[in-house]
Formats: sequence, C-alpha cells, structure tokens
Amino acid sequence: MFDLIIRNATLQDGRQNIDIACREGKIVAVASNIDGDARDVIDAEGFLVTPPFVDAHFHLDGALTHGNPMSNQSGELYEGINIWNRLKDTLTAEEVKDRARRICLWALANGTLHLRAQTDICDPKLRAIEALIELRDELRPLMDLQIVAFPQDGYLRTPGAVETMARAIEMGVDVVGGIPDYELTAALGQQSVRELCELAHRHGLLVDMHTDQTPDPQSRQVETLTAETIRLGLGSRVSASHCPSLANFDDYYANKLMAQMAVSGMNVVVCPLTAATCWGVMTRVGELYEAGVNIAFGYDCVLDPWYPLGTADILDVAHMAVVFGRLMSATQQTRVFESITYQGAKALGIDRYGIAEGCNADLVLLQARNPIEAIRLQPPRLAVVRRGKIIATQPKRSAMLLFEGDERLIDFTQKNLMDTKFDTSLSN
Ligand SMILES: [Zn+2]
Repeated sequence: MFDLIIRNATLQDGRQNIDIACREGKIVAVASNIDGDARDVIDAEGFLVTPPFVDAHFHLDGALTHGNPMSNQSGELYEGINIWNRLKDTLTAEEVKDRARRICLWALANGTLHLRAQTDICDPKLRAIEALIELRDELRPLMDLQIVAFPQDGYLRTPGAVETMARAIEMGVDVVGGIPDYELTAALGQQSVRELCELAHRHGLLVDMHTDQTPDPQSRQVETLTAETIRLGLGSRVSASHCPSLANFDDYYANKLMAQMAVSGMNVVVCPLTAATCWGVMTRVGELYEAGVNIAFGYDCVLDPWYPLGTADILDVAHMAVVFGRLMSATQQTRVFESITYQGAKALGIDRYGIAEGCNADLVLLQARNPIEAIRLQPPRLAVVRRGKIIATQPKRSAMLLFEGDERLIDFTQKNLMDTKFDTSLSN
C-alpha cells in the first residue's frame, strides 16, 4: 500500500507512461505499470510531471508594495532602491511577514517549493530578517525558504551593516549576500566580495551576491567573486546573481571570464523580468550554458519598486528568458526548463531532489506534454505534491469556441491548433 501513486506521467527527459509511487514522504518506485494500491491516485493522462520548481532569487520583503510611497518612473535599479529606502523605516516585521506569506502561497500554487529570499539587512532592527526566519519555520511543511542576508545599501558603505550582517548570521540565515557594485568604489566592492566570502566560509554558509548588476562594460565584480570561489574552494556553494554587464563586455574578456566561472563551479542566477526593466539587457544565458555554467532563474520582484507586475510563477520567468535571451533552439529551451528545476536545485544545494527512488515525494503535474510546451503555455499546475500529499490543485484550462451554431473545445496545444476546422473561417 502506497500513500500516493501518479499514473501515466511523462517526465521531462521524455520518458512516457511512467508511474511514480510514494510512501512516507519519499518516492519509492518509478516505473511503468506499478502494482499496488494507494490512498491517493492521480491519473496524469500523459501530462508532464516534474520535481518542484526552484525560484533562486526573490525579494519577498519588498513584494506587494508597488506604488507605496510612489512608483518607479524610470524603471531603473537606483530609483527603486531610493523608493525602497523611503518605505523601509515604516515597515513592521508582522506586515513584512504577511506580504511575504502571500507571495509564497502564490509561488506554491504555481509549483515552486524551493525559494531563495534576498532579505535586506540594512535596518538596525532587522525586521525583515526576523519576519522571514519566522515564515521559513512556519512554511516548512509546505515549502523550503532559503534566506539570504542581503546588504541592500552596501556592506562596507552602510554604517552598521557589518554588525547587522553578523547578527543576521547569528539569527540563522542560510546565505551570505552582497552588492559590490553599490559600494563606493570598485576597490571597496572587491574588498566586500573577499570579506563576505570569507565570512560565509567561516560559518559554513552559502554565498549569493548581486554582481555586475549594471550595464557598465567596465564592471569587474564577477571576476573577483570567481577568484574567491576558486581560492576558498567554495564551488557550487557560490552564486553570482544578475550579471547584466557580462552582456556588454567585449567578447575576449567575456569568454575568458565565462571559462573561469565554469572552472570555479559557481552558479549564475538570472532574473530576466527585472533585467528588462532595470537594465534593458540580460546576461549571456545561451553562452553561459555553452560554457558549462550552472544557471538558475529567479522571479526577483513582484509588485514592488523594481517591477510593476508579477505572479510569482517561475514559468513566466522561463518564458521571458527564452524571448529576451533569443534561445531559439529546442535544446536551449529545454535547458531553461532544467534551470527552473534540476539546475536550480543544484544552485540552492537541495538534497533528495528529483524523480527517482529515495528522492523526496515533491512533484508537480502540469497540463502540458513537454517542458517547452510548459514554458510556452504556462499551463495550470493540476497538482502540487509535497512529501506525498497533494497541497494545491488547479482546474484544467480550456476554451470553447461558439461559431456558426457549432461548439469546439480549444486546448491550445500545437496539434489541436493545427487541426481545428475553424482555422480558415476565423482568419477571414
Ligand atoms: Zn535581487
């Protein structure tokens, strides 16, 4: 007797007619036609089943504040930081927690069960850190939050930030953050990278810094982070977030840097939606894949001073990554889907992740036949499973055409669009 069996699933590697059996929170069998009964049975009807989505970069503490006290008129990063600083003093831990919880539940309903929250520590009271640590514990039965201690206004530049970083580490954050481009000089930025990597290394924490987060082709912070990753042997424990300047480096320097990033084992976390609003340029996603760099994606911002829209659905991000990055081949688009699943899990260091015996029974059933269709349609998550229990569902999406006395169900798959008999009449 199993707790849950999902029958007739398609997996993202293309395997079809797969059953997935779960017991006591773990996947215990993955095969065709598994014998046995279960408390819950889901018929996947040949749709795609994946491990849960990983959102590797999110500012939960600022989410849902759009327009308060004003909205960002230029869309630029620094205008957003100024608005956030006017708002920050008015926040309470309770209010931050309520907003963050709402976003987490949106993410969860969309199949994201792992989320890394960049959380501002440039507040002597550390209200956001307090809120997010409480929320991380509260939501643990449903999803895993990782908390980054993020010095939004600069680690060396902000009076007291060195001390609040130390306190945030004591309080139990998971990741040490940084923002070297926002330090007063390039040299101080490099110094901050070195000090923060050493700090993380001493405490056994992960590293995730906002690096080269400017279109400036002269920015040189990722190379320092790469060198520190190699010097301290931190490997995949380090992530470089954003990196839009890489798109504007000359090819000689960019190619040398990307090769070193691959050697270091570090991850790159890309946020295509805010790359569009803040800089109008994303990093070199296609070339980083080619260089062998592990890439994760993040939503970054929802309804806040940096992004005026948002759903917390990482498939929205994957869609923008394909479009903005001109990732035209099926291979590249499949890699994008891997980045919101397996590569994201590698970046966050998640254990027992995947669809295999012994993995956690955390799964998502999508109304799509394959990963590329999932990116294109951003379809309903028909079921979201955590430790073998169904924790969210959505109804199937469909549309009915009513035309010349006839009715026809449209399901938006490539096949059905091709063979609908209304094709010619609708185009007249
Ligand atoms: Zn960020």
